[in-house]
Amino acid sequence: MAELIPISTVDIGAEEEALVVQVLRSGHLAQGPMVERLEHEFAAICGVPHAIAVANGTVSLVAALAALGVGPGDEVITSPFTFVATINAILAVGATARLVDIGLEDYCLDPAAVEAAVNERTAAIMPVHLYGQTADMGAIMKIAERHGLAVIEDAAQAHGAHCGGQAAGSFGVGSFSFYATKNVTTAEGGVITTSDAALADKLRILRNQGMRARYQYEVVGHNWRMTDVAAAIGLPQLARLTQTNERRQANAAALNGALEGLPGVVVPRVMADRAHVWHQYTLAVDGRDALMTALAQAKIGHGIYYPKTAHQYECYAIDARVVGDAAPLADLAATRVLSLPVHPKLASGDLERIVGAVTDWAKGTR
Ligand SMILES: *Cc1c(COP(=O)(O)O)cnc(C)c1O
Repeated sequence: MAELIPISTVDIGAEEEALVVQVLRSGHLAQGPMVERLEHEFAAICGVPHAIAVANGTVSLVAALAALGVGPGDEVITSPFTFVATINAILAVGATARLVDIGLEDYCLDPAAVEAAVNERTAAIMPVHLYGQTADMGAIMKIAERHGLAVIEDAAQAHGAHCGGQAAGSFGVGSFSFYATKNVTTAEGGVITTSDAALADKLRILRNQGMRARYQYEVVGHNWRMTDVAAAIGLPQLARLTQTNERRQANAAALNGALEGLPGVVVPRVMADRAHVWHQYTLAVDGRDALMTALAQAKIGHGIYYPKTAHQYECYAIDARVVGDAAPLADLAATRVLSLPVHPKLASGDLERIVGAVTDWAKGTR
């Protein structure tokens, strides 16, 4: 019997183990020198001067919004086709989420829809770099500049992605997740990136109970800190990020080469001038249920990211702070998308099995 090919794997080895043991033996477990190293490395990857590590990716979004002063009465324009943390973070600071439609080529915010949604309450735009490809940041930054809006990039899935030669997380304020399945993991973790020294200072203080020095409280703060144990897990992965992203890119290219043109299948597209880091490899398919059955029989992991848009869940539909017109393309995407394994640990035999299963299904159903 063939073994299951998982949709994602955790890529942790001897270097992570050694560094974690070093932290455990050091006696310094909470935020300390490893967190500082991780921040330094991550800022360099994004080409920005400041990175502030926090407990998880959701908190990094909340912290970015809070530090920018976004709160009750403010609107944040974002995508309904995202992991729910994007919306939850906006609601957590008391702001209103204005959901606008996406484009079907990159599954990210449609700049024209963003422009149409800007109003006097708009404080920020929060593009989501879905599946590892950035939104059209050139167009989004122009809109933000024209209207004087902040931009917070939800780059939780896009460590190392680029748009127009510029790194994800370097356009506005960047927010990343290091959750277990992300391209870089610290088990749980997150980081905010910025070129604004004053904002970075504010974030560091908010993260640590509002303290600049011990028991010198400047603002009402939080405990948003990352542990040194977590940072030790992440550091070797940051050192390998270019390499692991290249493996994802090679896997995606192999899948696209083999699956493009099959009936009922739309393969994912890399937009001009963007570097995709393939957090997910996502097809749009006709007859998704049948393909999922075929993949399950062939023991090939797969996932739907995401099965519904945010406004289709009752808890958001009834929340007065979630607003926006219909987003038909996002709704359509939610009925068609299906992600296949693309992670760096796939062997060439795994790719053959994935291609074989999708090809057999596509030919058999027509
Ligand atoms: C994972 C993710 C988050 C939240 O990150 P956590 O570390 O799980 O809190 C936010 N936005 C998107 C798009 C994500 O994929």
